[in-house]
Amino acid sequence: MRVFSASLATETNTFGPMPTGLASFKDRGHFPAGKHPDAMTLFSGPLWAARMRGADKGWQLFEGMVAGAQPSGTTTRHAYETLRDELLGDLRAVLPVDMVLLGLHGAMVAEGYDDCEGDLLARVRQIVGPKVVIGAELDPHNHLTPEMVANSDLMISFKEYPHTDVLERGLELVDICAAMVEGKVKPVAAVVDCDMIVTVHTSREPALGFVKRMQSLEGKDGVLSVSLTHGFSWGDVPEMGTKVLVYTDGDQAKADALARQLADEVIAMRDGLTVNYPSIDASLDEALAFDGGPVVLSDGADNPGGGAASDSTFILRRMLERGIANAALGPLWDPIAVRIAFDAGVGAKLAMRIGGKISPLSGDPLDVECTVKALMHDLVMTGLAGTPTPMGDCALIETNGIEIVLITLRNQAMGTDLFTQLGCDLAAKKIIVVKSSQHFYASYSKVAKHVIYAGAPGAVTLDLNTLPYKKARLPKWPITA
Ligand SMILES: [Zn+2]
Repeated sequence: MRVFSASLATETNTFGPMPTGLASFKDRGHFPAGKHPDAMTLFSGPLWAARMRGADKGWQLFEGMVAGAQPSGTTTRHAYETLRDELLGDLRAVLPVDMVLLGLHGAMVAEGYDDCEGDLLARVRQIVGPKVVIGAELDPHNHLTPEMVANSDLMISFKEYPHTDVLERGLELVDICAAMVEGKVKPVAAVVDCDMIVTVHTSREPALGFVKRMQSLEGKDGVLSVSLTHGFSWGDVPEMGTKVLVYTDGDQAKADALARQLADEVIAMRDGLTVNYPSIDASLDEALAFDGGPVVLSDGADNPGGGAASDSTFILRRMLERGIANAALGPLWDPIAVRIAFDAGVGAKLAMRIGGKISPLSGDPLDVECTVKALMHDLVMTGLAGTPTPMGDCALIETNGIEIVLITLRNQAMGTDLFTQLGCDLAAKKIIVVKSSQHFYASYSKVAKHVIYAGAPGAVTLDLNTLPYKKARLPKWPITA
């Protein structure tokens, strides 16, 4: 079997303060055809799974470009078209193929393209023709457009949030697509729009049980695959929202009925899924009142994984004003401050201006007297599913009893080794503030005695009714505007 795999992925926060250009892909990872490293990356699950299966089954695997950017604002037309055409060129160069396996996000928006994945899949279909199997692995924070469904044979989203199941879903994708090439199955799709947008933390009920419910249906009674699109509220496109996607083996009526049934189940549990976000001061009060520690505070509104800058100072400012010590915070994206810390050296005491640089959504910068505690070139954090995640040159500074990790490559807090590699003893802290909405949970829950999802201002504001939507179809529960 001749198999082609490639990836093009980012999640676009159309309200985000910074454009996503080619440099954003170079920063996170842009591997030309045949140059993917010997480790899985977040959106190369299909390629990695195809390497594993292909080795067993003697496939001829052609590895195209793999490119992913840290989520940010709208992708430039130049970046999208350049990378899209590179991927399509890689595909054309190895024709004919039996199967195309793509690692996508599903919520990439570029100038002139509200639905990058729909555009890309349509072009792939045009190149390979109607008989070649096209499969894609998606992030559940996708927009699941009709064009994406129509121009692919199978799409499978990660089921877990935090996304710890990249490889498992990639293997499922590869196996079902291979069965389709061999004529053993014929997937037919059904999509039901839940007409709402909800956060789905699978680390706790009721979503924990819903993941098991979806998996209990798969692989029997003609049901091939079930995916829940959580949706991405910060992408202002017509198709934004929570949806259910079901594939059965040739039975459209069954797919339609099951998708409807599961959508009704998700709608019925939406109040239970909704996350409570106390204000900054209420979050700090709750953390201080908690007996013991560490208490982990999620600053989801400044999560770079949702397109924020990761340099907001709202929570840090209140901690300093309130004299809260024995705390850690990170990662704060501030390459200039890192540069100054490296110049000053470990042990230096100096005045620094940190954070609050990118836009009003980051708050104002903070002027602090600090000590440089540790410096590390090219720190690599352990990311989701063990994927190595570069953070660039990093500095640990301390001010008023708060240790802060400054980074040069934007990425959210996923592994606790972001702090511990710099000598920050997380277990001894009372409060740990992480720039992350939920991916932090996989690793930080191992040290946390309590977790609070704080409601701070920022580019990934959790108060959706304040976002200036223009294209999303509204009202859409809980967005009333
Ligand atoms: Zn996601």
